[in-house]
Amino acid sequence: MYQLNENYQKLPGSYLFSTIAKKVAAFTEANPDKPIIRLGIGDVTQPIIPAVIQALHKAVDEMAYADSFRGYAPDLGYDFLRSAIAEHDYRQRGCDITADEIFVSDGAKSDSSSIQEIFSVDCKIAVTDPVYPVYVDSNVMAGRCGEYDSSSQMWSNVIYMPCVRENGFVPEFPKETPDLIYLCLPNNPTGTTITKSQLQAWVDYANAHGCVIIYDGAYEAYIAEADVAHSIYECAGAKNCAVEIRSFSKNAGFTGVRLGFTVVPKELKCAGVSLHTMWARRHGTKYNGAPYIIQRAGEAVYSGEGKAQLKEQIAYYMKNASAIKTGLKEAGYEVYGGVNAPYIWLKTPHAMSSWEFFDEMLEKANVVGTPGSGFGPSGEGYFRLTAFGSYENTVAALERIRQL
Ligand SMILES: *Cc1c(COP(=O)(O)O)cnc(C)c1O
Repeated sequence: MYQLNENYQKLPGSYLFSTIAKKVAAFTEANPDKPIIRLGIGDVTQPIIPAVIQALHKAVDEMAYADSFRGYAPDLGYDFLRSAIAEHDYRQRGCDITADEIFVSDGAKSDSSSIQEIFSVDCKIAVTDPVYPVYVDSNVMAGRCGEYDSSSQMWSNVIYMPCVRENGFVPEFPKETPDLIYLCLPNNPTGTTITKSQLQAWVDYANAHGCVIIYDGAYEAYIAEADVAHSIYECAGAKNCAVEIRSFSKNAGFTGVRLGFTVVPKELKCAGVSLHTMWARRHGTKYNGAPYIIQRAGEAVYSGEGKAQLKEQIAYYMKNASAIKTGLKEAGYEVYGGVNAPYIWLKTPHAMSSWEFFDEMLEKANVVGTPGSGFGPSGEGYFRLTAFGSYENTVAALERIRQL
C-alpha cells in the first residue's frame, strides 16, 4: 500500500480568501442594492502596457516562420532578457551581477517555493510575521517546519520575527540563529520596508552567522524613498549570503503573463559547494523555461518606451495608495505602508480583531479588505487594503469609510 507525503497532511486549510469570498457573497445576496468595492486582492488591474503588447505580437508572428521559430528556450533563459536584467536592474544600480547569475522563470511564487529544495531538510527557517504564506507552506511540504499549533498559529520548528508597529515593522535578529532567512521588501502584506542600512545589518548578520537570505523583491518598482535598496546586492557582502527573487507580476502587470527571475551569485558557496551550480542543475532538471514570447515581452519592460509607460502605471497605483493613506488618516485611523509599496496596513480601531473589522467594513462601508490575521499571528489587529483598484473606486471606498 502506498503512502502519501505526510507533510502535506500537516498543512492547515487556507481559509483566508475562501472565507472572504463566502462572506462577500452572502452580503451581496442579502443586500443586492449595495455595490461592493474590493480593495482586498493582491492582483493588478491595469492592462499590459503598449510597448509590451507590441513585443508580444512581434514574437508571436516570429513563431509562424521556420527561420524565426523558437523551440525550447535555453535552460537559464534567453541572453537578450538576462542581459537586459543585468544591465537595468543591477549594473545601473551599482550592483555587480552578471547575466550568467540570472535564472529566468515563470514567476516568483515558483522560485520562492522551490529554492528551499537545494538546502538540507535540517535547515531551520526564519520568517517575518505577518508573511507571504508561500515561504512557510513550501517548507512545511518539504518537512522542515515541525508541527502546527492551531492556538498560536505557529509551527514548532520555524523562527518567527514579528513585524509590528512597536518595532516599526523592522524585523529584529532572532534569539535562535536560523539557517535560511526569508525577507520580502518592500513587504506584502504590511506595505512597509526597511532602509538600506537596516538591510545591510541583515546582510552582515547572515555573513557572520552562516545564514542564507532569500530576498523577495517583488515590489521593487514601488520604491519611492531614496534610502531604500532596490536590490539586496546594493549591500556589501550580499553576494556571499543572498539569493534574490524578482517578478514581473507587480512591476509590469504580468500576473497572468508569468515571468520572473532568481539571482544566485557565483560567490554564494556552502562549504565550497556552489549554490549557483545546484540551482542550475535543479532548473535544468525540473523546468523547461519561460516561453520565448514571454521573454520578449519581458525584454520590452526595459526599453525606453516600456520604462516610461510602466512609470506611469506604477504612479497610477501609488496615487491610489496615497489617497487611501491620507483618507484613512483623516478619518482617524492609524496607517502604515503605502509609500514604497501598493499596500496599506491599518491598525484596527477599538482593539477590534482583524475579522471583526472586516465584517464592519463589509457591512457598513461595503468595502472589502483582507484581515491581517490571515498572514500570521502578528497580523492580528491589522487590516490590509490594496492600491490595485481603479482610482474612482478607491476614492469612492474612502468616502464610504470616512462616513463610518
Ligand atoms: C505577488 C507576489 C509575488 C509574485 O509572484 P509571481 O509568481 O511572480 O506572480 C511574489 N512574492 C510576493 C510577496 C508577492 O506578493
